[in-house]
Amino acid sequence: MIFKDITDINFNGVDISSHHEFNHEKVYYYEDQETQLKSLIAIHSTKEGPAIGGCRYRQYDSFEDGLNDVLRLSKGMTDKNNVAGIPFGGGKAVIFKQGNKSNNLLKSFASFLNRLNGTYISAEDIGITLEDIIFIREHSEHVFDNVDPGPFTAKGLFYAIEQAIQTYFSENLVGKKIAIQGAGSVGRRLSEYLASSGAHVFISDIDRSKLSDIDNRNITCVDDSFSVECDLFSPCAVGAIFTKDSINNLKCKIIAGGANNQLLDASIAENLLEKGIVFIPDTLINSGGVIGLTKDYLKRDDVEIEQALRDIANRVKNLMVESQERSISIYQALNNRNL
Ligand code: NAD
Repeated sequence: MIFKDITDINFNGVDISSHHEFNHEKVYYYEDQETQLKSLIAIHSTKEGPAIGGCRYRQYDSFEDGLNDVLRLSKGMTDKNNVAGIPFGGGKAVIFKQGNKSNNLLKSFASFLNRLNGTYISAEDIGITLEDIIFIREHSEHVFDNVDPGPFTAKGLFYAIEQAIQTYFSENLVGKKIAIQGAGSVGRRLSEYLASSGAHVFISDIDRSKLSDIDNRNITCVDDSFSVECDLFSPCAVGAIFTKDSINNLKCKIIAGGANNQLLDASIAENLLEKGIVFIPDTLINSGGVIGLTKDYLKRDDVEIEQALRDIANRVKNLMVESQERSISIYQALNNRNL
């Protein structure tokens, strides 16, 4: 078993603190040969409280690929918690997928969490389910195990999209064309909220089985929603989908989705602005999940949670107006406020 604070060292050929994404408090590595666990936890900030953020279980091409993901995602969590006004810092974990996701592997991850004494609190993310977290909770108290964040994220996103459409078109959702990428925990619920408000939804998923039981006359399943001609495109699958090349295929007026880190790099926000596409950053609108996750910890009741989700829409309106008035991207307007 290896447990290492790798913040200030050269590890696996990478000088961690010189990495272009690094401005973090701590980065830890844990390896357990018996259970095949190889995992990284990045703690971006604990200034506002313990670092919170999900654990991602996926195949990475290399150690550096996983490091890149964990550094970007943990920084995004600090920004998201900050924008949402909840007293937590940002952190994230990744597990390098190798064989099967066994209970022993999850138990081993719990030991990793215990080493950090609550400076990082984990939750589900891609590849890690609420059931996995409930199992980890038997071996570590440093997880949020009593809430599925997906429904909260979807509801917060829905309010944000409703507001974005209202601000842009001065109209409600009836008849608006919305394309969604990903019919998972977030995308599927979002499609139902939008359809029941009269929008026409086009949804795609690389896993066609996720679409097989959709039976709603306002929802059309498509092979690829990225290039659908629409009023708003909502990425709810994976990150880094907007690149200098890929954005040439977009046929939407607004982008507002739940997927983390949608831009390959920050410069794409300016490219989208030049193309006349309003990009609403994920950190501004996908905080419903952390609002839901932390509700018991912060002893917030349902009324307070509903208000917190609606506040996401208020922030969208203010930043859309500010970016319009100053001719800057919402991304830039948001970053200026976070400084
Ligand atoms: P999920 O794993 O339940 O669903 C993602 C879906 O996207 C899957 O059905 C998958 O098959 C599909 N998919 C993957 N690549 C695709 C592609 N190229 N085109 C179309 N479909 C594709 O995940 P989720 O919980 O719904 O989260 C969606 C995104 O939102 C993720 O990026 C996640 O990190 C982010 N997010 C989720 C939450 C939450 O509360 N669940 C909170 C904040 C951010």
